[in-house]
Amino acid sequence: MAREKTSIDWSQYSLRKIDFTIVLVFHLLAIAGIFYITWSSALAAVVLWVFTGMLGITVCYHRLLCHKSFETYPIVRAIHLFAAALSFQRGPLTWSKHHLRHHQNSDQEDDPYFPQHGFWFCHIGWVIFKRKARYKKSFELPQHIKNDRLNLFFEKYNLPIFALSLVALYLIGGVEFVLVAGFLRVVLVLHFTWLVNSWSHRFGYRNFSTTDESSNSPLVAILAFGEGWHNNHHMYPRSARHGMQAWEFDPSFYWIKALEFCGLAWNIQTTTVKAKRLAEQNAQKA
Ligand SMILES: [Zn+2]
Ligand SMILES: [Zn+2]
Repeated sequence: MAREKTSIDWSQYSLRKIDFTIVLVFHLLAIAGIFYITWSSALAAVVLWVFTGMLGITVCYHRLLCHKSFETYPIVRAIHLFAAALSFQRGPLTWSKHHLRHHQNSDQEDDPYFPQHGFWFCHIGWVIFKRKARYKKSFELPQHIKNDRLNLFFEKYNLPIFALSLVALYLIGGVEFVLVAGFLRVVLVLHFTWLVNSWSHRFGYRNFSTTDESSNSPLVAILAFGEGWHNNHHMYPRSARHGMQAWEFDPSFYWIKALEFCGLAWNIQTTTVKAKRLAEQNAQKA
């Protein structure tokens, strides 16, 4: 399944010095956090892992904003955008731009994660290196993302909100909370998100013959709240349900269904492998 790795022409890339420094400092602080783990700081980290990783990144940035998989009230979206701001994965416009460009060019030259350069470049290299060549295909963020006031607010104040969350963690639990529930949790959630781009385009099984190399990985699905069913997702990007077979555990979808149960989500897009294959067969017969 894994594609041929091409050698990297480093003259085509420049180091993003600020991003590299931030990534390095965050990793050093995360490593320091390992020595400060206590029951209370670990519990805070787990709660924030779910709050930021699932509500913020997978449910809000990915399924709600990028793919319009369901609709909800502005106040519910604002709470989820706040959760995403605490993940330190940039604002909703920037995150969506990277992700939608990935869908537009999956595993091709214009894929912003540079899959042609192997696992690590695709995992973290794209964060710290900038490609000098311009993208060949033009790309526009959809109106519902770039012209929305809430999205623009959280794009602008993303870093101050994150910084305030560290202050809050310090006031609640001191240095150990900042290092464990702050930096260690942020770095782990970053890697869990990056695994969707790297691991889930290399290892795992495929339910569908998509034109890219996306795959379904149970490990990534657990770490990233259902995002590991990435081959299903590339086949049917609008579906709020990524785990399309009964055993494909998808907590982000269960959260969206819980919102629906409470009257807070509607117009949920779903499909299953069975339904999708049936539709394909019918299309072939027609
Ligand atoms: Zn992908
Ligand atoms: Zn997507």
